[in-house]
Amino acid sequence: MSDPTFAEFVSHAPGYWPAESMDRWDDYPWQLKNRINTLGELESHLRLTDIERAGVLLAGSKLAMSITPHFFNLIDPEDPDCPIRRQVIPRLEEGWAAPEEMADPCGEDSHMPVPGLVHRYPDRVLFLVTDRCASYCRYCTRSRVVSGVGEQHLETQWEAAFRYLENTPQVRDVLLSGGDPLLFSDSRLEKILTRLRSIPHIEFVRIGSRIPIFLPQRITPALCEMLRKFHPLFISIHTNHPKELTTEVRDALGRLADAGIPLGNQSVLLRGVNDSVEVQRALLHKLLRCRVKPYYLYQCDLIHGSSHLRTHVSEGLEIMDRLRGHTTGYAVPQFVVDGPGGGGKIPLNPEYVLEHRDRKTLLRNYEGRTFEYPEPSMIPPEVAQSLLEKTTCCP
Ligand code: SF4
Repeated sequence: MSDPTFAEFVSHAPGYWPAESMDRWDDYPWQLKNRINTLGELESHLRLTDIERAGVLLAGSKLAMSITPHFFNLIDPEDPDCPIRRQVIPRLEEGWAAPEEMADPCGEDSHMPVPGLVHRYPDRVLFLVTDRCASYCRYCTRSRVVSGVGEQHLETQWEAAFRYLENTPQVRDVLLSGGDPLLFSDSRLEKILTRLRSIPHIEFVRIGSRIPIFLPQRITPALCEMLRKFHPLFISIHTNHPKELTTEVRDALGRLADAGIPLGNQSVLLRGVNDSVEVQRALLHKLLRCRVKPYYLYQCDLIHGSSHLRTHVSEGLEIMDRLRGHTTGYAVPQFVVDGPGGGGKIPLNPEYVLEHRDRKTLLRNYEGRTFEYPEPSMIPPEVAQSLLEKTTCCP
């Protein structure tokens, strides 16, 4: 925790890029155009390890590499174990699928009534609107389709998906995801949101996006003005390490919050990135300062080639045990695992209920002290009778 950027908001522009890039730095099309997509581009900025170099060469047929200049600037060139680097630079280990790993660990493909629309829970759907992101996370749950180079391709059937939603009144909540929906132009997003809002039973729309972290320049005032027309609209961002919360990101999140959009964060627990209480605490506290409620901490899904990034479930539980009660309740996310193969989100909590006894529950608090909570007592019949008599004889 010696790095001050863990706890403080720091601007990182432009870093590895020539000074003349400063003029265009805040222009999000420039950021997209100047993404690092090839081994040559990567090596022109950074000395790679052999493990990374092999990883980049293997990535082309699995999940493409792409890193925005903004996010790339967060990499510490002197630290081969930099937590930013581990998230976006491919590694050799991605080329090996452990026996327990899967292409579709959340079983989404088997819950699609229409290609691109996942209907697994009764009252809500996941609408996969694109397979592209500003940068690609090496542990992406949807790496089978995201980036367009893997074995599968996302072929969202737009009209059929909208018709399914119109004809399925139990769906009250739609989550737009992908890929990253905020990569669409304002006008394209507006059309999608307008169509969803024309369906009377859809009460609530959410957007899942890592754009505020990878490409905060995309969160323009015009985008925020457009989004605010579609309330109630929530945005779930995705950030994993406190270094990602720069001044630019904080300002972008502030613009979304000022547009009245409630913000939650989803993190993935990743080995060598955020698998310590100290890093988690710094991240959670910084998120609150950015007006974002930490929402979920995910156990990493069993995606092919992810074992080097996955932690043991017990490590996540240990982290949660050292957060709950030790810091602001609003800062503490729910630790969850997606049941492998399509079980949905399963909350994981440290043991606070030690025992159910006759008429008592034995509980443990955050300090490890135990308490007995008694079950409710029933009013004795003779007391009830006597109270009844008192109220009936005295008008
Ligand atoms: S931003 Fe989300 S969808 Fe895109 S690569 Fe990262 S985890 Fe996957």
